[in-house]
Amino acid sequence: MTELHRNYIGGEWVAGPSASPNRNPSNVDDVIGDYSQADATQAKAAIAAAKAAAPAWAAGSIQDRSILLDRVGTEILARKDDLGRLLSREEGKTLPEGVGEATRAGHIFKFYAGEVLRLAGEKLPSVRPGIDVEVTREPIGVVGLITPWNFPIAIPAWKIAPALAYGNTVVFKPADLVPGCAWALSEILVKAGIPKGVFNLVMGRGSVVGEALVNDPDVAGISFTGSVSTGRAIAGKAVGRMAKMQLEMGGKNPLIVLDDADLPTAVNCAVQGAYFSTGQRCTASSRLIVAAGIHDRFVAAMTEKLKALKVDDALAAGTDIGPVVDPSQLEQDQRYIEIGKGEGAALAWGGERLKRGSDGYYLSPALFTNATNAMRIAREEIFGPVACVIRAKDYDEALAFANDTEFGLCAGIVTTSLKHASHFKRNAQAGMVMVNLPTAGVDYHVPFGGRKASSYGPREQGRYAAEFFTSVKTAYIAP
Ligand code: NAD
Repeated sequence: MTELHRNYIGGEWVAGPSASPNRNPSNVDDVIGDYSQADATQAKAAIAAAKAAAPAWAAGSIQDRSILLDRVGTEILARKDDLGRLLSREEGKTLPEGVGEATRAGHIFKFYAGEVLRLAGEKLPSVRPGIDVEVTREPIGVVGLITPWNFPIAIPAWKIAPALAYGNTVVFKPADLVPGCAWALSEILVKAGIPKGVFNLVMGRGSVVGEALVNDPDVAGISFTGSVSTGRAIAGKAVGRMAKMQLEMGGKNPLIVLDDADLPTAVNCAVQGAYFSTGQRCTASSRLIVAAGIHDRFVAAMTEKLKALKVDDALAAGTDIGPVVDPSQLEQDQRYIEIGKGEGAALAWGGERLKRGSDGYYLSPALFTNATNAMRIAREEIFGPVACVIRAKDYDEALAFANDTEFGLCAGIVTTSLKHASHFKRNAQAGMVMVNLPTAGVDYHVPFGGRKASSYGPREQGRYAAEFFTSVKTAYIAP
């Protein structure tokens, strides 16, 4: 028997009508714990609790809010090794990646502890003499936060911290696969003294708990991160009832390598961006667009590098790539590898199911060559350790390939040419651009988000988070 981890609603830990075990993808025999599964009634109770707590939290002391968020950040940082271990155990990214993500979550809470005290407005003269105009920001009310499994502590942190900082109350629905990190983060918030109803945790299915949040008229805004298909479905419903929406979704991020690139930099960017965290990142470099003059040297160096990577238990020392998160993601990765072969791309390395000491979902990193930008493996998000090399005759063709996608999250280039780097920075159709850096790996204090099908609504993170989590008010004052 493992411990039952309950939902947190209206200041109480409450069991759901059912519970579900959480398993380690590096070792399916390792059960991490049992986690309550809420139903629609519990989701409604959480929304009601958040609604009741909203006026006092919005009107309360910003000093108290700041102290609370800072305390949460301090506790996360103090426990980063344990939280990182839990994260790696339940999601499968390597231990250094898990600890790094937990550290980031701590820093995010610290950042917003400061931002609470910096929420400025504007005072302007009116066009009518003698009148003042004030522009201020107010909380939007109850927010529903729906998160994916691939960043189980950082994404919840970058939604919960600004939501609370800007005076909103929260109903948090984590992804089904990673309730462990969500629960641990919630416990830290509770122990830090979050007032009753201000923060609520409802673990459970998207089609039940997520739907309840999306459809409830008392939820003023939904901040969602996940797949394009779920995002589209949610957007239709939430916009239909005029809720505020923020959607962060998939990517098919290009990394261009030009003839003048430093080859080791190009290979490091490609390997890190495409395969680390098992390729399960929205910002993963899944399209490697390589200029003809460096193409063969790049492919040879990539293959050498991939051969040397260690795929193993996420918690084992020296592991470079952990397991795929679960059987259905593994099936999707393998299906796309077959699709790539069927489309005529050449599997230059990897794509094999691996056996290790424990029963986990291990897959060797797959590199396709001879791919075209029209192939499904170049157009659809796979979300695994699978990348394809697309040959381009020059920079102009590479840029055209990079922009020819329904997505627009991040785009990268490896080059020593200032001219091409500058042109790319201006003309890449993406929310984030990287020069001589992997497409994955961003700072926490600046805006994060994309264009086209990758994102919808205001940016997340940094000061820009205020756009979603506050509502602007314009006041006119005559003496
Ligand atoms: P998903 O869309 O399957 O699920 C995301 C969340 O939505 C989960 O909590 C899920 O339970 C919930 N959900 C599912 N159906 C729902 C419904 N009908 N109503 C309300 N909620 C519902 O995504 P996932 O598989 O957890 O995550 C992987 C995806 O997330 C990838 O596409 C990846 O690119 C994307 N992602 C994007 C970013 C970004 O910031 N752009 C970051 C990380 C992950």
